[in-house]
Parts: sequence; C-alpha cells; structure tokens
Amino acid sequence: MTSPLFGQMMDVPLLASSLLSHAARHFGDTEIVSRRIEGDIHRYTWRDCEKRAKQLSQALIGLGVQPGERIGTLAWNGYRHLECYFGVTGMGAVCHTINPRLFPDQVAFIVNHADDEYVAFDMTFATLVDIIAPQCPNVKGWIALGDETCISTHLADMATPALSYETLIGRCDGDYPWPVLDERSASFLCYTSGTTGNPKGALYTHRSTVLHAFAASLPDAMGCSARDAILPVVPMFHVNAWGIPHAAPLVGAKLVLPGNCLDGKALYELMEAEGVTFSAGVPTVWLGLLNYMKQAGVRFNTLKRTVIGGSACPPAMLRSFEDEYGVEVIHAWGMTEMSPLGTLAKLTWRQQQLTPDEQRHLREKQGHVMFGVDMKVVGDDGQELPWDGTSFGDLHVRGPWVIDRYFRKDDSPLIDGWFPTGDVATIDADGFMHITDRSKDVIKSGGEWISSIDLENVMMSHPQVAEAACIACSHPKWTERPLVVVVLRPGATVTREELLAFYDGKVAKWWKPDDVVFADELPHTATGKLQKLRLRELYREHVLPTVDEKVV
Ligand code: AMP
Repeated sequence: MTSPLFGQMMDVPLLASSLLSHAARHFGDTEIVSRRIEGDIHRYTWRDCEKRAKQLSQALIGLGVQPGERIGTLAWNGYRHLECYFGVTGMGAVCHTINPRLFPDQVAFIVNHADDEYVAFDMTFATLVDIIAPQCPNVKGWIALGDETCISTHLADMATPALSYETLIGRCDGDYPWPVLDERSASFLCYTSGTTGNPKGALYTHRSTVLHAFAASLPDAMGCSARDAILPVVPMFHVNAWGIPHAAPLVGAKLVLPGNCLDGKALYELMEAEGVTFSAGVPTVWLGLLNYMKQAGVRFNTLKRTVIGGSACPPAMLRSFEDEYGVEVIHAWGMTEMSPLGTLAKLTWRQQQLTPDEQRHLREKQGHVMFGVDMKVVGDDGQELPWDGTSFGDLHVRGPWVIDRYFRKDDSPLIDGWFPTGDVATIDADGFMHITDRSKDVIKSGGEWISSIDLENVMMSHPQVAEAACIACSHPKWTERPLVVVVLRPGATVTREELLAFYDGKVAKWWKPDDVVFADELPHTATGKLQKLRLRELYREHVLPTVDEKVV
C-alpha cells in the first residue's frame, strides 16, 4: 500500500469561537437586541458580545473551570445567554443548555448526569434553582445572570447563594485570545426532552457545531444572510435554538432575542419594532401569534419567512402564513440527536413547475436532507424500503452532526452505522421525506399502519377546530383504531358526527377515525410537542363505538 498524497491546505480547526470572532471582526456594528427579563430592551453589537464572552471565559478560568467541564444554563433567549454560548465553549468548557420547563426532578437529574460545575440562570428561575440546588451537591456555584442591584431586588428571597454574572465578568478585561482547541472537542451538551424515561444527552463537537451552522445557513436551508434580522422564538435551551445563535454570526445577521415574552402580542411588537425578516419556532407559538394578529387585525411589515418545525406544521398554519400574511413557511424536521436540522421542505426548480396545489402538498412534507445528512427508511426486517412516497418504515440517518452515542452511555444506539430516529416516514422519488409518525405513535390497524399526523392535520384544517391529537385506541378486531381528541375554538358549534364526516374523501376509508371526543386542552411536553403518552393514558379506558362490530 502506498501512502496517500496529502493535500497541502492549512489545518485550521472548526471552532465555535471563530463564529463570534468572525462576526465581531467583519460585522462588528451589527446589533443584537434583547428583551431582558428586567423588562427593558437591551442593545449592543457583535463586537460588544465578543468582548463580554471573552470576559466570561476569563472569569470561568478564574473560578478554576477546566476544559471539558460542563457549565449549565437555565436561561431564556437573551444576550447574556448568548455570551455563555461563546464564553463557555471558547475557553474549552462545554455549554450545557437545560430546558427549565422540565419537571424540577428532571432538571436535577440532568444537572447531576451532566456533572455541571456551575449553573448560570436567569432570575426568573430562582425558585427552580432553590428547589433543585439541594439535590445537586456537586454544583460549585449558581450564577445569576444579572448585576448586584438586580440580585438584591429580585433574589432577596432566594435561599441558594448566588454569584452575580455581571460582577464576575466585570473583574475581567476581555483581553483574551481564544485558545486553538481540537475541533473534535465537546462544545455543547443538549438533553432530549425525555417523553419516555430519563432525558439523554447529545454532546456536540466544535466541528459539528460549525458544520451544522454552515449547512443551516445555505439558501435551500434557513437561508440566513447579513441582510436578515433574525428572531429565534425557538428557545436557546432547546437544541441550541436550532443553530441560529451560530448561523447568525456566521453570516453577520442582526439578532433579536425575545426573552421570556413569547405571547403573540409581545412577539409581534418586537418583530415590527426591530424589522425582523426571519423567524423560527414550533407550531404552538405560531398559533398564539396568528391568533393575536387575527384579533388585532394587524399585518407583518418586514417578516418574509419563517421556519416551522419541532412537530409537524399543520397545513392550515402554512396556508394562513402564506395566503393571509405573505410569509414564506419553511417546514423543517430534525432532532436533538441531529444538532438538530435534518431536512427542509424547499422546492427544486423542477418541482416549482408543478401546479400550486402540488407544490403546497410537497411543502407540507418535511423535505430534502441538507448536504451532510443522509437518510433511509427501513422495514421491520431492517431492509431499506423504496423511495416511492408510499412505503413507510423507520427513518435512519447519519452525518457529521448526528450523534454517535449518548453522553455517558456505553452502548451504541446505531444500527449498521445509522442512527434510528424513532420516526416513521416515507421518501418519494425526489428524495422528499414525509414523517407519518413517531414509531410509538403510529396506529397499527389490522397489521397496516395509519398515520396519526395525517389524521390530525385533516382535523386541524377544520375552521372550528383549534387543536387535535390522534391516538391509537384498542380494538378487539383491529388491535388498534384511531381516536381523535379535539379542542374546539371558542364559540364553536360543530358536532362529533360532523367532524367524523369531515374525513370523507380526504383519507382512505379505512383510515377514518372511529371516534372523535372533545377536550378543553391537550397535554404538551416541555418543548411544545403533543404528549401522546399522557393522552393514551387518559383515554386508555375509552370504548370506541365500533367495538360492537362483529369480530370475525
Ligand atoms: P427533539 O429532539 O425534542 O427536537 O424532538 C425531535 C422529534 O420531534 C423528531 O424525532 C420528530 O418526532 C419530531 N419532529 C421534529 N420536527 C418535526 C416535523 N417537522 N414534523 C414532524 N415531527 C417533527
């Protein structure tokens, strides 16, 4: 064997800190605007952000934090949280973003499992910190993201001693060159939402973080640019806000961070005031925004496009954004284990020649993979299924920003080198992927599979329906049959029979749900996804009206 001829290019590692340095050097005056939990609007620039992130790196070194150690954050989207992203990872430690909407016991479990040295928290989470601190004896200090005055005003009743973030970084001058780290060293740690069992940690590398930011910014992905003002509604505590805090400095975009004010009115006003052109979030928050806009009779003046993902984007929402407000919707799919972006539903030149209905139908799917991710669907026997748009099976992925294993777990989750996503999907001949279910949510009726998401989408397109969830209900003949739980809009008068009839002609006859029941609200997870497990528990005893059919 002859040795390969190596190329002669510089071996410059891909580091998260280089994203911020790039923005500070080339887009130094571009603004980062944050709605603070103190209530006011804070403005500064990428240049200021880099200086303060470096001050934080110095402060952490002063506290004795070593490269590779984890620093937890319990914080909203704001400039101090952004500084943690870069200040922690820049000096070689790992930024561990924690979802504060989880149950306190789960938060404590995550802090302990990650072995966080310090935890930085927004003052709104003081009560949560007080609850979990006694359960987390290894945490050396709790850092309140504020100054001494704020702490004495807002944290007077707090039992846990807290350090002031501003005091800590105020002692440092920011004159600190980011170290050149190995690009394979750990950068961020994010835990899955843990709808079943304990949350599991996905430990990203600097390399995966930067590659993901590159890919996410491409025109057929999120298409971020220096001409954008980006408002991530998706929280920075959930999968790094889909990589926006990394993509924004990579392209030099203005960043607008909404803090903890995520109601429709607050979001709309911030978007309008700051000239936001691009936003991203899960369907539930958009529901709030669209409802507010309808009631207030207002329109967007600057917003051009929005990425919707995290759970299936209801077709009715896509239509509402585009037809009523002229905002392009980019439906995207991904998961914590994938940093998170995997696919986006942007059309090719050829697909744009299709009829408007056909185009829309395609854009309701989860779309094409980005370069870097590969995917396949496999059947029960593990064999790859054809890309025909109808064969559905388990979706497997691989790529440089997909996990190889979970943090502190020895057994590999991979199957033949592929990561099994737990989603069930079809892929069509053009490589457009369509999620039909989570594998545990799919309805197995008489050996055939029925997509609960498709049945939910039909129901949510009914004008009197606010939200709908479809779950499997046990059936003596078919094993499982679909049951749809519906939350009606205020003042709705529609009946169960009318809602069942609404499926006629929209889905195959044998897919038609066996029953529709009404509820005041549906249970959601900490990341806004429907909690199907809880719903299945709630309706375990439900008897479908079809069970009397003669069992043959
Ligand atoms: P998480 O790791 O909390 O981001 O959850 C990832 C899971 O959310 C995926 O495996 C999917 O089940 C679901 N998901 C994310 N985006 C979509 C989407 N666009 N359509 C359907 N399901 C989605």
